[in-house]
Amino acid sequence: MKQSLAILGSTGSIGEQTLDIVRENPDRFEARVLTAHSRWERLAEQARAFDADTVVIADERCYAPLRDALADTDTKVYAGADAVAQIAAAGDTQVVVNALVGYAGLAPTVAALSAGKKLALANKESLVVGGACVMPLAAEKRAPILPIDSEHSAIFQCLAGERAPVRRLIVTCSGGALRDVPAERLADVTVDEALRHPQWSMGAKITIDSSTLVNKGFEVIEAHWLFGTPAERISVLLHPQSIVHSMVEFEDGAIKAQLGTPDMRMPISLALMYPDRASRPQERFDFLAHPQLTFAEVDRTKYPALDIAYDCLRRGGTAACTMNGANEVAVAAFLARRCRWTEIVRAIAYALERAPFVARPTLDDLAASDAEARRLAAEYLASVG
Ligand code: NDP
Ligand code: MG
Repeated sequence: MKQSLAILGSTGSIGEQTLDIVRENPDRFEARVLTAHSRWERLAEQARAFDADTVVIADERCYAPLRDALADTDTKVYAGADAVAQIAAAGDTQVVVNALVGYAGLAPTVAALSAGKKLALANKESLVVGGACVMPLAAEKRAPILPIDSEHSAIFQCLAGERAPVRRLIVTCSGGALRDVPAERLADVTVDEALRHPQWSMGAKITIDSSTLVNKGFEVIEAHWLFGTPAERISVLLHPQSIVHSMVEFEDGAIKAQLGTPDMRMPISLALMYPDRASRPQERFDFLAHPQLTFAEVDRTKYPALDIAYDCLRRGGTAACTMNGANEVAVAAFLARRCRWTEIVRAIAYALERAPFVARPTLDDLAASDAEARRLAAEYLASVG
């Protein structure tokens, strides 16, 4: 029996690579539902190539051209952010791949889990913002969450078959595009420099998040929710080669690591096929081509975002939601060349100092907290011109 997939964000970096896996495994998967934000032409091409049942375009202004582009097909076309969440819960798809970017991924995550579906999760922001709501929901509905993020896929693989408590999760970190840029030059880095990630080709938002280490901070929070590990048992280790995708240390001192070339199709295929694995004969790691794997401490002064994220995790409540909302606004401003790179983390700090804190937020509280964080970040960015 084929597994039918809903791929939310199919036109993005993770979405396209998920479709590569579907293409490589035509007798295992069918891509029934595809969604995008505004790139309706690419979505229409994908719908034809994969003979999709349903497509959803989040930006309602793109509905008419998308509908016209697919008028001679049987593909159903819907539009709007609510339709993305509804399609995550609806129909006969068994697996939802959430490859949306940002807070927009939270409602579809909740919808997919509420419907008891298996969730292959790339959208880490769902857990950063709403882990305290999402994880109990997944448990209640017995809906599995399979991580796509490479570090979490690595930890998941290291934990498979283990039942003893862990001493420490070690999340590795490439250091991002600005790893070798001296701290005093950071105020002047260009968008192009910050987008030049040394190891991974990804969407623009996560590439900037990698350059500030906001991404690594988010991954610490994501690891906490996925694996139930407290902040003090999660550490971050700089590993420029991105070959060791992360590690788990056990109480006897043993450490398990998962290694491989940096290619997101590996964690994506595992999330879709677990406990099976894909057959990918083209993937062969050559140790002799990578004779040196090095490790170092992260510079916490150059990258204050990491400690801010740890602090949000310890505070709980709406703190990480505030961090995420402010970050989304500031990253968009940086990408639009409306602020300096160094203002991103300052905007986050400004919002966190001023935002109301709710200790046990509902989904409505999270929405309010996200909106307030965005308002505060915009206020800060306007004040610095
Ligand atoms: P991209 O920006 O490449 O793609 C995002 C996708 O979501 C696109 O299909 C986009 O549509 C759609 N989208 C964007 N905003 C919205 C919105 N508001 N409502 C509905 N749809 C929207 O992102 P990535 O693929 O890089 O990242 C996706 C997620 O995966 C992120 O959470 C990221 O942190 C995580 N991740 C990504 C990795 C990577 O290698 N790329 C690695 C690990 C995690 P459109 O094309 O029309 O704009
Ligand atoms: Mg990652």
